Amino acid sequence: MKVLVINCGSSSLKYQLIDMTDESVLAIGLVERIGIDGSVLKHETPGRDKEIIEEPMQDHKDALKHVMDALVNKEYGAIKSMDEINAVGHRVVHAGEKFASSVIITDEVVKALEECIELAPLHNPPNLIGINACREILPTIPMVAVFDTAFHQTMPKSSYLYGIPYEYYTDFGVRRYGFHGTSHKYVSYRAAEMLGKDIKDLKIITCHLGNGASVAAVDGGEVVDTSMGFTPLEGLIMGTRCGDMDPAIVTFLMKKLNLDADGINDVMNKKSGVFGMSGVSSDFRDIENAASEGNERAAIALETYYKRVKKYIGSYMAEMGGVDVIVFTAGLGENSIDAREEICGGLERLGISIDKVENKVRGKEKVISAADSAVKVLCIPTNEEVMIARDTLELVK
Ligand code: AMP
Repeated sequence: MKVLVINCGSSSLKYQLIDMTDESVLAIGLVERIGIDGSVLKHETPGRDKEIIEEPMQDHKDALKHVMDALVNKEYGAIKSMDEINAVGHRVVHAGEKFASSVIITDEVVKALEECIELAPLHNPPNLIGINACREILPTIPMVAVFDTAFHQTMPKSSYLYGIPYEYYTDFGVRRYGFHGTSHKYVSYRAAEMLGKDIKDLKIITCHLGNGASVAAVDGGEVVDTSMGFTPLEGLIMGTRCGDMDPAIVTFLMKKLNLDADGINDVMNKKSGVFGMSGVSSDFRDIENAASEGNERAAIALETYYKRVKKYIGSYMAEMGGVDVIVFTAGLGENSIDAREEICGGLERLGISIDKVENKVRGKEKVISAADSAVKVLCIPTNEEVMIARDTLELVK
């Protein structure tokens, strides 16, 4: 059984072909600059150098055709014919309240997702373009949509409602949805597996710290709260997103800087976060380097970032009445020794202590808490693609 996993952005398309007999990756690739000058497909199969294919690709359908040609290419492909692909799994960012789990894609599902565009105007349209292009090119292969919001649908109302008039929820769907659900699900289940425990018996806090970042409280395998909200802007300070702040700052800055709604959205999504704070970069490696060279703004950006994560951990411990496991994942969470040490530092009285030697790990699964730490702390590289492939396989079986 082979599953093709597709993740479409506005001008990009990421894919992985996974053999579900052992979950091995048969091919992995990325198309960039779709519809603009310099379209390029980077395609890789195990044991071979990356193949770079530079050809004009005017839209996602065109890009997908190139991906399929690469997958069956005699020299650097991974399969003999597209018939070997049993199913396609699509990453979709927002399903609103329409879907609490993955679904087989039908005309009705596509229509329902079109209705969610209003909630995710940047993300859902390219996801849908990818789905439609794939359905056109591979009309007989079953397809599944896997949603970033789905794992968070178990949150109670008290976690997802905001302190605004209730009608804005019922009339416009204004509520917390949460994102990165596929990643939070993967690492929480993997954490239980690594510890040899049933997830039903665990209270887990998962910290997905990448360019976008969110924390989730997972009690007995179900999300009870998460830091991203109506959009991915809420919660932690991120690469370029501001995260939590006094909402009055929005109107204050709009007046001060004479900005309209799009203008302030741009500031909060693209010019803020550790990028705006440090003035250095949105990449944590650059900021860590600048801070170590004495750049004060970089240092305070990191300190503020760590403190925000710490505050979320504390609040979710209070919300769940304790925690058994804390997981760090995604770019920064998997790779930054300093970030994990700083975030967990000073939490010993809460039963959390890191072993500084065990913590010297990058991009590998490992228990990094001290032997006497009541709370287990784990580093787990996320794997959203395999999670999408598993859901896809489960539904088409
Ligand atoms: P992601 O969105 O999960 O791809 O994560 C991207 C973020 O992870 C970027 O800000 C990177 O700077 C950060 N990151 C990746 N590797 C490292 C590393 N070795 N040390 C610190 N940050 C890293």
